[in-house]
Amino acid sequence: MDGADQATCAVPARVAAFREEYRRGQVGPRYSGRLHFAFTTLVSLSVIGLSVSRMGPGRSLEWLTLPAVFLLGNVVEFLGHRGPMHHRQRGLGLLFHRHTEQHHRFFTHEALSYESHRDVKMVLFPPVLLLFFLGAIAAPLGALCFALISPNVGWLFIAGAVGYYLTYEWLHFCHHLPPAHPVARLSVMRHLRRHHEQHHDPSKMQRYNFNIAFPLTDWLLGTRWNPELQRTSKPGNRRT
Ligand SMILES: [Zn+2]
Ligand SMILES: [Zn+2]
Repeated sequence: MDGADQATCAVPARVAAFREEYRRGQVGPRYSGRLHFAFTTLVSLSVIGLSVSRMGPGRSLEWLTLPAVFLLGNVVEFLGHRGPMHHRQRGLGLLFHRHTEQHHRFFTHEALSYESHRDVKMVLFPPVLLLFFLGAIAAPLGALCFALISPNVGWLFIAGAVGYYLTYEWLHFCHHLPPAHPVARLSVMRHLRRHHEQHHDPSKMQRYNFNIAFPLTDWLLGTRWNPELQRTSKPGNRRT
């Protein structure tokens, strides 16, 4: 089912029931999806701006930090999503619960769009996770690059890592927009949304399309869902 079809279909009863239960039990009366989105965006952009402003004159090779961080971020996104977000692991059960047991029940390939700004709570990472990412991952690794390679590489690492985090959040948010939204109708967004929509099919979610931002690692490791390939490789077991 593509986005246009989805717009005309009702939310399946089991999904609607889960949404109601989640909204009643997990979304407090003071929660605002707009504030949540603004917090993620403003904190991330502030850290990126601060990091870039701290850079001094340096060598052009230092800018290679950004594509390196992009590739690293893409692999980490893939591994985190294929691993603890879809397979319960000791100490990381919260990731599995929030992603597989909540996000994937709130949104399926038949009902990919949120219905109000309060549903954004089920799309974006919690604000505390952004603070954890900044304090426990981006800052220490940036400090390591600062000390071991050069100050500029340290600042670029932090800017690039936070930039990837924010890009992931923005794109995932766009994947769950109503399909008639002008941003969701852009050609590139329709393509990326389709990739994520296929992942939200319960029969595919543990095997295909683990990249949420850009499907690079999925493409490299052959985990990109492709119905044409599936038809030709398994003629007796067609899937639609
Ligand atoms: Zn999703
Ligand atoms: Zn998933």
